[in-house]
Amino acid sequence: MPLVTSKDMFKKAYEGHYAIGAFNVNNMEIVQGITEACKEEKAPVILQVSKGARAYANHTYLVKLVEAAVKECPDIPVVLHLDHGPDFETCKSCIDGGFTSVMIDASSKPFAENIEITKKVVEYAHDHGVVVEAELGSLAGIEDDVKVSAADSSYTRPEEVEEFVSKTGCDSLAIAIGTSHGAYKFTPEQCTRNEKGILVPPPLRFDILEEVMKRLPGFPIVLHGSSSVPQNFVEMINSHGGKMPNAIGVPEEQLRKAAELAVCKINIDSDLRLAMTGTIREFFDAHPDKFDPREYLKPARANIKELVRHKLRDVLGCAGKA
Ligand SMILES: [Zn+2]
Repeated sequence: MPLVTSKDMFKKAYEGHYAIGAFNVNNMEIVQGITEACKEEKAPVILQVSKGARAYANHTYLVKLVEAAVKECPDIPVVLHLDHGPDFETCKSCIDGGFTSVMIDASSKPFAENIEITKKVVEYAHDHGVVVEAELGSLAGIEDDVKVSAADSSYTRPEEVEEFVSKTGCDSLAIAIGTSHGAYKFTPEQCTRNEKGILVPPPLRFDILEEVMKRLPGFPIVLHGSSSVPQNFVEMINSHGGKMPNAIGVPEEQLRKAAELAVCKINIDSDLRLAMTGTIREFFDAHPDKFDPREYLKPARANIKELVRHKLRDVLGCAGKA
């Protein structure tokens, strides 16, 4: 099947109490690792491209890589989505350039301006059969060009969501309930420690999510910054020359709970980076004589695939839903 929008996907996910994985893609091995797992697990998938990915790999290469994956995985629905579109022009360029979904992130702007920019993107996108994700509230952390300090981050205000969605016509809404971009989502000071001395991050604000659900029944909600920062990969990095102290993510049980509620799309990027980097570091440590990129990218791709398989089955609940 050709690339699809997320409209049907989200409807089924909402009703079926699971979420679709939205994985960031930057190169061939990442596209292959993700889509091979989705193909084998029969899971619908969103492949998303950030502004940074377009700057790194070039729009045409990314679109063609995703088209190749669609051809190789004919039985699963695939969405090509722009992650954090910063302005109308970037969104338009992706809508004109083959994407089936875009995000306009004007969440740093005042409420009225966010509505105005989002509405303009929605009008253009809907005219071209493309769906739009918007954002209210802002997440802390760093993701490519998006940098928000903890002090500037703010939870979504549920009392704003109805007006925002009805005035903009957006198809899904990213909200801030305590997730965060990057591999250092919480400082040790924000966390508690369990009996083994391991950092436990503060819980997500499910009260906000539930209030949003009440105000927007049946409307798909999106969670950004939802990597879990698997400690096996952090250790793999740190024990092979890396230095990532206190890297910490969102516990998978909390994402599972969000997926059972109104959250239909869960963004995962850092976990793929950690799997790839950890695997390559371990390989270089074990084989200092090797220099063929295929030899270290192959196990990196395999570990991305296994990580994605785990997310589909155990976290998102979307395995078998294609
Ligand atoms: Zn994001």
